Amino acid sequence: MARVIDERVNNDLAPLKERLATIGDLHSAASVLAWDRQTYMPEAGVRGRAEQLATLARLTHEMLVSSETGRLLSDVSEREPGSDDAALLRLARREHGRAIRLPARLVEETSRATALAEQVWIRAREESDWPLFAPHLERVLALKQEEAGYLDAEHPYDAMLDRFDPGASTQRMRTMFDELKEGIVPLVRDVSARLANDRAAPLRGEFDESAQEAFGRNVITSFGYDWSRGRQDRAVHPFCINFGDPDDVRITTRFDPECLSVALFATCHEAGHALYEQGVDPAYSRTPLAGGVSMGVHESQSRLWENLVARSRPFWTYFHQKLRDAFPGILDGVDLETIYSAVNAVRPSEIRTEADELTYDLHVLLRFELEVELFEGSLTVKDLPKAWNAKMEEYLGISPKNHALGVLQDTHWADGYFGYFPSYTVGNVLSVQLFDAAVEERPEILPEMEVGEFGSLLEWLRTNVHRYGKKYEPDDLIQRATGRPPETAPYIRYLSTKFGELYDLG
Ligand code: ZN
Repeated sequence: MARVIDERVNNDLAPLKERLATIGDLHSAASVLAWDRQTYMPEAGVRGRAEQLATLARLTHEMLVSSETGRLLSDVSEREPGSDDAALLRLARREHGRAIRLPARLVEETSRATALAEQVWIRAREESDWPLFAPHLERVLALKQEEAGYLDAEHPYDAMLDRFDPGASTQRMRTMFDELKEGIVPLVRDVSARLANDRAAPLRGEFDESAQEAFGRNVITSFGYDWSRGRQDRAVHPFCINFGDPDDVRITTRFDPECLSVALFATCHEAGHALYEQGVDPAYSRTPLAGGVSMGVHESQSRLWENLVARSRPFWTYFHQKLRDAFPGILDGVDLETIYSAVNAVRPSEIRTEADELTYDLHVLLRFELEVELFEGSLTVKDLPKAWNAKMEEYLGISPKNHALGVLQDTHWADGYFGYFPSYTVGNVLSVQLFDAAVEERPEILPEMEVGEFGSLLEWLRTNVHRYGKKYEPDDLIQRATGRPPETAPYIRYLSTKFGELYDLG
């Protein structure tokens, strides 16, 4: 008898799962179009592509909010707490609950407006033309503010944060940034007082692009990036993208022929995202459980490989000779300590994606504060460049030479990704907490890194983070993996120790 009931209970999920799989497919198809738009599409294709994406966004939305989906979600019997199916139901109900509050017109219009804004942003950034981009940003912001209105959160910006980091709030982010400001600002000040020579100089020169590409590919192959389930292309703004299953996870990078660190660290960063996606339980494919759980946890993976690994002494113990071999005649005589110090050179600069580890979070803090002000209505798009430059001066002591190096540098606002930036800092914080837990449990990780092996590290991440996809809420996942709730103290400690040693702060 029990068996008969079990089968009935299991089967009553099937129609819902099928519907969710279709919704997932539509979403994945849109992602393929978005990947193409950012890699190979001729610029003239922008209007047609914007329409295609808007249509897919509308169809996805219509299916998600339809009464049929609503009926399937409410008819299904409850699942055992802690099971995959219970998590699937929780996620599907949350998505449905969020979507049902947004008019289809708004979703479609946002998709179209952001596709156009992104294409305009590329040109505006190239030509440092703020007036070209400003009206598009105004349009995107107005749509996102309208969205926040429909979602009716405690603070309008909460609605933005929640999309990328379920459970995050403006208040919680403020607390995190306050703690970091207190720890990082004095450290930046102390280090800045010791910036006599340019430690990053060895990374600048003439570096053949194909040699850079080959070196980067070797590095991420050793990390465990599976090329049979991925590929790497070029993009203005590097990204990682997936299509709802771990068997096709693509990355992009960009090259600067005069600076070695741009492509290398972008490649390691995006590979970190990709390792996460490639490691999700394949059984979750085409379900709401597929993919990384939040952008904060996602960034913890990219930053872990970029910083805790690729900017570490153990990593360069092995790779410094490989790097010299890759660029004969250019890096001859550059030893381990010189490279280690070069890849960790602190230099307050304009561009977030090229920022050193120590000043990085100040770039994020600036964006977080501006976004909150935009959503609170105390700042307008028109005044954004001025506000940007003032904060750059306040936190980093520099004024951007032009808008391309300032307010126009990121694609996120064009994409409507307000609320995304704090994920980078959440990721930094979590990356250290996770790495510490991994090394504590598997002390062989560090000596393995010194010989160019990363198997134990990847295995720990796969076991404790990757495979779960979206099954656990972010805080729950971190608690399970590290035995502690998310906390900033280990991260501040890590920065103080690393840069204290590098800059002889005593
Ligand atoms: Zn990232």
